[in-house]
Amino acid sequence: MPNIQPKITPIYQTSVFKFEDLDAVQQYFDEPGSRYLYSRNGNPNSDELATAVAQWEGGAGAVATGSGMAAIFAALLTYCQAGDHVLCAADIYGGSAALLNLELSRLGIAVTYVPFESLYDLAAYVQPTTRLLLCETMSNPLLRVVDLRAAAAECHRHGLKLVVDNTFSTPVLTRPLGYGADLVLHSVTKYLAGHSDVTAGAVVARTPEDAARLRQIGVIFGLTLSPMESWLSVRGMKTMRLRVAAHSENALAVAEFLTRQPAVQAVYYPGLAAHPQNQLASEQGGGRFGGMLSFRLPDDEQLVNRFMQRSQRFPFAPSLAGVDSSCSSPLYTSHRALTDAQRAELGISVGLVRLSVGIEPVEELLADLAQALG
Ligand SMILES: *Cc1c(COP(=O)(O)O)cnc(C)c1O
Repeated sequence: MPNIQPKITPIYQTSVFKFEDLDAVQQYFDEPGSRYLYSRNGNPNSDELATAVAQWEGGAGAVATGSGMAAIFAALLTYCQAGDHVLCAADIYGGSAALLNLELSRLGIAVTYVPFESLYDLAAYVQPTTRLLLCETMSNPLLRVVDLRAAAAECHRHGLKLVVDNTFSTPVLTRPLGYGADLVLHSVTKYLAGHSDVTAGAVVARTPEDAARLRQIGVIFGLTLSPMESWLSVRGMKTMRLRVAAHSENALAVAEFLTRQPAVQAVYYPGLAAHPQNQLASEQGGGRFGGMLSFRLPDDEQLVNRFMQRSQRFPFAPSLAGVDSSCSSPLYTSHRALTDAQRAELGISVGLVRLSVGIEPVEELLADLAQALG
């Protein structure tokens, strides 16, 4: 064999690894990290992704998972068992609510939702069996920003763990572990991979003990990520710092533009001075606010349909965070499962449109929005 020295980690597209003899397999068990056995347990590509996310978030270790949902599941199981109770921010990804309401409840893990205003005063919600609070750094679709330092202090005061879904913010803007969070998780599908071509997740732990627990849950429940998806995610993450800067710059320009459009009734973007958490978002995000925003059109289905049909640069594609822009309808997609009362409480109606602002030349995005709203 020639001496091959690839600059980039190749894709180890193999489900299993070979051993010379019994001594070699014994070495695998005696010296953790010295060899690989089976890709569900560990693979150079998924390890490279886990290490990259752990470094970005400043954690002790991580596990790469098959999706963001698998990451949420692994994070909750790290601290919870049957008979336990969790608190969850009311502004939460629809899939997280579905996991808690439809599946974990069945396994004996109960949930109580905490309104945004009560996240820093949990006394009324904590029970003897409460283990943790799950929240998002920036919520979907209204971009409410959680004060992570205050939330972590309040959790720890009650002996709870803080689990943060950092998908919308990315560690480029905010590193929740630095504010006291215990676990931070991502839908890697979104900004970490960044090109709308991968489904993946990751969870990072602050302590080595929690990291080991996470890895065991990943391996035994079979939540771990394939080599190809890991490789694509690592490749995406190499440009994350640059992409998030560009997403943030474009989104701020789009948000400011939308506030001047007569058809637009409200714009939700943490970078606008009128946003209720503008100051906090600036401090926690290092002066950047990310690529996600929502705006309100009149509650008229035909009007929203016309916007979607006319726009060339914001196709209706119910995901987010790709380099190419897109739009979505929270009512029709991500928040479909909510009750009428929950939707009314959050102000999620047909006129609410969510934009994922990409990294295209911003004047092309503004021109497209102008003609689509005209
Ligand atoms: C998309 C998303 C998830 C779920 O991730 P998948 O990769 O789709 O499983 C979780 N949290 C947030 C905030 C998301 O946007």
